[in-house]
Amino acid sequence: MKILIVDNCQTSSSQTAEMLATTGYKNIVVVPTFERAMDVLTGSAQNDTSVDLVLMDVDLPGIDGIAATMTIKSHHEFENIPVIVFTALDDEAVLDRAFDAGASDYIVKPAGKIELRARVRSALKLRQEMVKRMLREQELGRLARKLERMSNIDGLTGIANRRCFDDMLVKEWVRNGREDAPIGLLMIDIDHFKHYNDALGHMDGDSCLCAVADCIRAAVNRPADLAARYGGEEFAVILPNTDYEGAKSVAKNIHANLARSGIAHPNSSVSCTVTVSIGVAAGIPTTHNTPEYLLQTADRALYQAKQEGRNRTKSVNIPGPEDLRQ
Ligand code: GH3
Ligand code: MG
Ligand code: MG
Repeated sequence: MKILIVDNCQTSSSQTAEMLATTGYKNIVVVPTFERAMDVLTGSAQNDTSVDLVLMDVDLPGIDGIAATMTIKSHHEFENIPVIVFTALDDEAVLDRAFDAGASDYIVKPAGKIELRARVRSALKLRQEMVKRMLREQELGRLARKLERMSNIDGLTGIANRRCFDDMLVKEWVRNGREDAPIGLLMIDIDHFKHYNDALGHMDGDSCLCAVADCIRAAVNRPADLAARYGGEEFAVILPNTDYEGAKSVAKNIHANLARSGIAHPNSSVSCTVTVSIGVAAGIPTTHNTPEYLLQTADRALYQAKQEGRNRTKSVNIPGPEDLRQ
């Protein structure tokens, strides 16, 4: 465990270091100022040999020990390093300030060996607990992110997530191409959703996203169809084995479901309820184009729907192999 002593009085700092060394602590660094202390803290963090405890004298030249403690504690990477302050007097006002600054304990100088040892031991125990907790939290965060990556479900709306959508689009593109069957794609974007959030807050915004997802899910009937949250307030639907007309009718059903559910929009220039704009692209996959092309085409159609006033669908029928041969 690494202990940093910040004390400009040579006699007292070497006494402290000596007492700790005879107790068995091997890794002790002594510095005379706050600036040097920061160098050691930063350097140690960069080398992954973090300081585990700071013993800080209150009377330092320049920035005093209390301001120094406060500055150390305000750095996110050092906030879990316990600081014990050394004071010359058992002055309550000074101690009050020291604890306010984030010190975890204090020692009145000159410290006896027994007292120093006991306080250092318990501060280091606290530090060990904190490090254990930090590692546990990091591990939990890592696992949560991994689970999310592995999962195919969007956590908020319960429909497929972007990862699942990306996988399915490529698979269905290849499969429908092999079978010479058309594939339809819908890109759906909520109209003036920023205004919705601004007016009602993000919690209501999230509930609205769930309600819109329900309307989309209800319009998508076949087992092979896939409704997904594409990102933010955008959704996408993959319709395997579905031609241009079929894809347009799914889009129509989505508008109808939304109108029926009548989710009030407090600030939309389009309607008093929540609406969406939809871009549709459909066609038979060929070797001339790619799933990205289908996506870009639907996305351009969506952009056009927005441009033309929102709450509408714009559609593109992609030429198939037959059309290309003509
Ligand atoms: P447009 O009609 O042109 O699509 O306008 P818009 O306001 O819907 O589009 P814009 O892209 O300007 O804003 C999208 C907003 O969607 C911004 C962001 O606050 C909100 N949003 C994105 N993801 C989420 C989310 O997960 N939850 C909530 N509540 N809001 C989100
Ligand atoms: Mg958007
Ligand atoms: Mg939008």
